Amino acid sequence: MPRDNQRSKVYLAETDFQKEYVKEHKIVINKDLSFWDGYLKKVLQSKWFQKHFGPIETIRLKDGKGTRNAKAMRIFQGRGGIISLPLWSRDEIVVLHELSHVAVSYFKNAPHGPEFCAAYLKIVKHFIGTEAENELKMSFKEKRVKWRKKKTLSLDTLEKLRQRGKQLAAARKQEITERN
Ligand SMILES: [Zn+2]
Repeated sequence: MPRDNQRSKVYLAETDFQKEYVKEHKIVINKDLSFWDGYLKKVLQSKWFQKHFGPIETIRLKDGKGTRNAKAMRIFQGRGGIISLPLWSRDEIVVLHELSHVAVSYFKNAPHGPEFCAAYLKIVKHFIGTEAENELKMSFKEKRVKWRKKKTLSLDTLEKLRQRGKQLAAARKQEITERN
């Protein structure tokens, strides 16, 4: 697993954003774990989630008693997840943060790396709204959190770009010859 070197920046950015949203009651807050169980079941069953993150069969919730942090893990060969939610953490922002961990594979990516952040923004946009997404993006920018995915070009695309480059070079050459 790559090093988790964005973790503290992500937490800082999220805390700023979360304070305001909790204060203004713009998000769901519910201390009852069974509420979040239902919430996550609906998310996993939604076409939108399955389209963007693939099928995840189940997420098991733990009450996080005696632990300080909310946590998430992908389990069952990627077909499921566990999320631990201590009492303080039972709001929509923390739940969607942990859900994003389950949505993004831990094995290839740093836990709070750009891929995680991109998924988190996408999930926040869909489930809380565009305004929330924009504000989270602003907090990310302020704390210099990177969220853009590195573009990996397919061989096909690379070949097309190469051909296009050749064409442009040929066209330039011709232009120069014609000008002379
Ligand atoms: Zn996290």
